[in-house]
Amino acid sequence: MPVTAQLQSDLAQGFASFHGQLMHRTCPLCGQDNAGAPALFPSLPWHIRQCPACSMVYLENAPTYESLSGDSAAWQQSWREEKERRARREPVLAAAQKVTHGVRDAIKPRDKLTALINRYIPRGNVLDVGCGVGHRAERFPADVVPFGIEIEQAAAQRADTLFAKRGGRAVFAPALAGLDAFDDQSFDGMVMYAYLEHEVEPAAVLRKAIAKLRPAAPLIIKVPNHGCVNRSVRGLRWCGYRLPDHVNYFTPATLTRILRDTGFAILRFNFFDRMPTSDNMWLIAHRPHSTA
Ligand SMILES: [Zn+2]
Repeated sequence: MPVTAQLQSDLAQGFASFHGQLMHRTCPLCGQDNAGAPALFPSLPWHIRQCPACSMVYLENAPTYESLSGDSAAWQQSWREEKERRARREPVLAAAQKVTHGVRDAIKPRDKLTALINRYIPRGNVLDVGCGVGHRAERFPADVVPFGIEIEQAAAQRADTLFAKRGGRAVFAPALAGLDAFDDQSFDGMVMYAYLEHEVEPAAVLRKAIAKLRPAAPLIIKVPNHGCVNRSVRGLRWCGYRLPDHVNYFTPATLTRILRDTGFAILRFNFFDRMPTSDNMWLIAHRPHSTA
């Protein structure tokens, strides 16, 4: 799949802004160091590898936590710029997406996340990892007490104010450190919505997250599906490729495996949760009833 000159130059420009703030990652699923293995897009400064051992796709040279946190996080700036560049590259598509997303939002007030929370976590303490400004909690049932972790400081403060009104709170920290702020087995459910694709240490976070859940408590996940049809058709222009803020590119197989490897059981992952025609997939895992 050829990378257009414009896209190439846009990504090189973004790469330059992270100079000196990158880390080397081994495979987030099996741990293998794939330095020097072929990249999916060899002409890019961002190295997207597919692990030869386990087939996990990931960004090898990813921004450090330090470059992502704080008030003027580099990635927010880079994403704003990327959206503008995308619109310039594909103005018709950008306009069409704006309309279809607007229509979708208008006709689906009870979206999938709300439906899943109502069904699987109707009450109790619910932790939203990567909660942003906390707006998702407004759609949580009244009996849910919202908690959150957010790496962006201003957003974390807004979420904290919002959650405090319902008896919860939000912590400003990367997920791994933020989870330490909560007692083990203190949550009746957890949400990782558009979060796991950003996390440079997904297995470590999941391992710590499961300890914070009560036995049988569910974890609702939404991530881009690297195995979808649109990704094969559009190549690097696929909306799920957000460099460098998306550092993990899960398929149904690798998502299932990272959850099982970290102790979770799969509660629901049906055809409609992982339709190849959708850019995203949904999975509900849970902490097993008895953890031996
Ligand atoms: Zn691997």
